[in-house]
This record gives sequence, structure tokens and C-alpha cells, in this order.
Amino acid sequence: MVAVIENYVGGVELASGGAGRLPVFNPARDTVISEMPDSSADIVARAVSAAKNAQKGWGKLPAIERAAVLRKISAKIRENVGRIARVISEEQGKVLSLAEVEAAFTADYLDYMAEWARRIEGEVISSDRAGETVFLLRQPIGVVAGILPWNFPFFLIARKLGPALVTGNTIVIKPSEETPNNAALFVELLSGLDIPPGVINFVYGSGRTTGAALSSHPDVGLISFTGSVGTGQRIMSAAAQNITKVNLELGGKAPAIILADADIPLAVKHLAASRTLNSGQLCNCPERIYVERKVADEVVAGLSAAMKATRYGDPLGDREIDMGPLINRAGLDKIRDLVDSAIRQGAEVVTGGKVADLGEGNYFEPTVLANCRQDSTIMHQEIFGPVIPVNIVDSLDEAIERANDSEYGLTSSIFTKSLSSAFRACNELRFGETYVNREHFEAMQGFHAGTRKSGIGGADGKHGLLEYTMTHVAYIQN
Ligand code: NAD
Repeated sequence: MVAVIENYVGGVELASGGAGRLPVFNPARDTVISEMPDSSADIVARAVSAAKNAQKGWGKLPAIERAAVLRKISAKIRENVGRIARVISEEQGKVLSLAEVEAAFTADYLDYMAEWARRIEGEVISSDRAGETVFLLRQPIGVVAGILPWNFPFFLIARKLGPALVTGNTIVIKPSEETPNNAALFVELLSGLDIPPGVINFVYGSGRTTGAALSSHPDVGLISFTGSVGTGQRIMSAAAQNITKVNLELGGKAPAIILADADIPLAVKHLAASRTLNSGQLCNCPERIYVERKVADEVVAGLSAAMKATRYGDPLGDREIDMGPLINRAGLDKIRDLVDSAIRQGAEVVTGGKVADLGEGNYFEPTVLANCRQDSTIMHQEIFGPVIPVNIVDSLDEAIERANDSEYGLTSSIFTKSLSSAFRACNELRFGETYVNREHFEAMQGFHAGTRKSGIGGADGKHGLLEYTMTHVAYIQN
């Protein structure tokens, strides 16, 4: 018997009526572990209506009381990290230790957003008129729709819910159809916390049905979406019908530049680790490497040794592993096609290069591709897997020019001991983030935001928080 997931609307379980059901798989074992509804527009409308009703009271509470709710949730998460981690690993495929980090980080993130309660500040603006005061207030938008991907599914709940709730909005969350079980567990953890009904709602279903209904609902004030560029485009056009505000966190094709003066072992360690973390399924991790010719052989040899040493398999199996399976067959096929195209376009396979057959599950061998041409497909399309394409450059200028030659603009990095090269990269790389001599990974107090097709708006920190507010200017004449 597989577990059956139901929607959570207005503080209670809401049966999905005649909606179709979707199976949820364990990607390491190819087994069905649960099923969820493909919720209709009618169910979505009920969730939005519950959120809209609840917002009237929730938005009037002092922010510190709303923050107390976030802290109650984070405490409950901390008590259940082990259980949450197993659920994430089982449906998403990341190794258990990383799933534990994800669960604990989710609790920290909610606490961080709760800290903003006393710091949501408007402005007092000087007036042209005698006796007049002009206030710029920061107010809630209303109902937020949070539409989530599958790669950090539990954390992404908090990344939407934390800032939405502390600023006085209510929320309807649609988890990815690949990973609804961790969301169902999140709902279970809310039980007994006395959260006003309708403040938090979850609807499950496919993007085509449930996601489309949510993003085209006229009572949604903000769609906060994390996922692929194609879906972002569809959501933007649905939102356009109602002029709904969108916050889009989309894909990446992060360049990593390694200059000849870099600490090479450090660069190799971070770059290889980030290509195998979560099986390379991260929006922010290096997707293409530009290395200066003088150190290219050393870098390629180092990356190759590190990737070759990566152990992979079932995250909940008996063996100790560094990397789990890819999320599904479509992800695996996309990686295989991209690697094959790179080889046809002149790349040399240094290690890996093909699908790994473990009898079950979706695995691609940890791969290093040398001599990838800048105009080859693999240097431009998101891989989302354990594959490192390398391109040789002759100068920092050339590296920056090639790095900027991308439709994406999320994260980037440089490894160098020269302060001047590091500053040039930070000023000239046209990306939302640049990491210097460290792994690609953002902090909750930063601002994770891409340019070009990587998105609109961003998450985290003060700027991420303010995305969930609207301005309201009051002119008060004495
Ligand atoms: P996806 O776009 O396939 O799906 C994301 C969500 O959108 C799912 O919940 C899906 O059901 C929903 N959806 C699909 N079609 C929809 C529609 N027409 N209307 C409304 N919702 C719809 O993405 P994915 O495969 O789950 O995630 C991987 C992608 O996410 C990668 O491109 C990755 O780079 C990106 N990502 C970006 C960030 C970031 O912070 N920028 C973080 C994580 C992942």
C-alpha cells in the first residue's frame, strides 16, 4: 500500500474529488512510494479563497506574533530532522547527510526570516508642502503562490513561506509533482501549532493542471516561482492576464574561472564537490570551467581524479556513497544527449561520459570533458548533472568574455590570488552572484537573484524579504 497524499486547505485535509492521481517514485529503486492528486482549478480556487480570507486577520497581527509562528515551525522541524531527511532522500535521491543539512538549514532559514519582524521598515519622505508628512509604508501583498521545484524541495518551502508570512501575506504552495512527500510531512508537523486556518495551504498536482490554475488565479498577488526557464515563461504569460507580480528564480549556467595564480587544489576540491553534490542538480553550481592554459592540465587531472573517486548509489542503501541518483529518466536522457553532442562537437572525455548501469535507478558517471569549444551546446545549455565541461583560455579578459556569453546570469566564480583579478571579475561578470576562492553557495542573508533568463527578482536577505511587500504612500496634511 502506497501512502496517499491529500491537499491541505484552510487548515484541514481536502479530498481532491474526481481529480486524477499521480504516482511518486523513489528514483534510486524505480518503485512507487506514494500517490498524490492532480488537483483541479476548483481545488486551487478553494485554496486561494482560504488564503484570502485568512490574510485579513493575519496581515493585522503584529509582525512579532507572525514571527512566533515561524519559530514554532522551525522548532518542530529541528525535532524531526532525521525523519525529514529520510523522506527527502527517498523521493529526491540526495544523500542522507545532505538531506539532514537541508532540513536543519530550513529551520535556520525560518528563524532568520522571523528575525526580520522588528525590522520591516518604511520611510518618511520630506514633503514640498508645509505641515505635510509623507510616509512610505511596507504592506503585505495578499495571497502568495509558491511554486516549487524538486531539487531542494523542503528548503524551498521555507524560502517562500518565511518571507511571505512574516510580512503579513498568506500562502498557497504547490510542491513539485516529483517530491510531494516532504511537503506532506511539513503539513503533518504543523499539527498542534495553532496556526490560523488558511494562512498556509498546500495543493498538489502537475504543472499543467494545478500549477497553471494557481498562476492564472486573479486573487493571487505574487507568484514566487523556482524552476526552469520554460516554466517561468509559461507562468509569466499566465500572470500577465491579471498583471500579477512575479518573482522568478530560474536556471543557471554558472561559469567558474581558474587563473594560473590560483590555489589549484582548492579550486579542484570545490568545483568537483559541487558537481557531485545533489548529483549536480543545483541551479547555482559551476556548469562550465574556464581555465588558464598554463594550469589546464593540472586542473583537468585533478578534477578527473576527484570525479573518478566519487561513489554513487542508493542513498538509503547499505553502501557509503557520495552521490545519489538523478531525479528521473528525462533528466538522465538530457545529460546523456548533452554529453554526446559535446563529444560530436570535439570534446574529449577524460573520465566518465556515459550512463551508469546499477540495475535500477538513474545514474550518470561523474564526468570531465576537456577541450569543450565555447560554441558547443554543452557550454550553453543547463546540464543539471555530474558533468564538468572545461574550456581553455589565455587571459582573464577572454575568460570574462566567454563567461558572459550566456543566456543565463545567476552565479559565477573565480579562483585567483590576485585581488585585482578578483575585483575585475566582480565588476565585469554579468551575473547576480560571484564567489571568489570558494564554493558556489549563497547565504540566507545575501540576495540570490539572477539576470537575463535566470530570473526576475530574488530571494533571501532584506531584498528578498521586501519582494513580498507592496509600497503604500500616505500623504498626511496637518
Ligand atoms: P520545472 O520548471 O519543471 O518545475 C517547477 C515547478 O513548476 C513544478 O512544481 C511544476 O509542477 C511547476 N510547473 C510546471 N509547469 C507549470 C505551469 N505551466 N504553470 C505553473 N507551474 C508549472 O523545474 P524543475 O525541473 O522542478 O526544477 C529544475 C529547474 O529549477 C532547473 O532549471 C534549476 O536551475 C531551477 N532552479 C532554480 C533555482 C534558483 O534559485 N534560481 C533553484 C533551484 C532550481
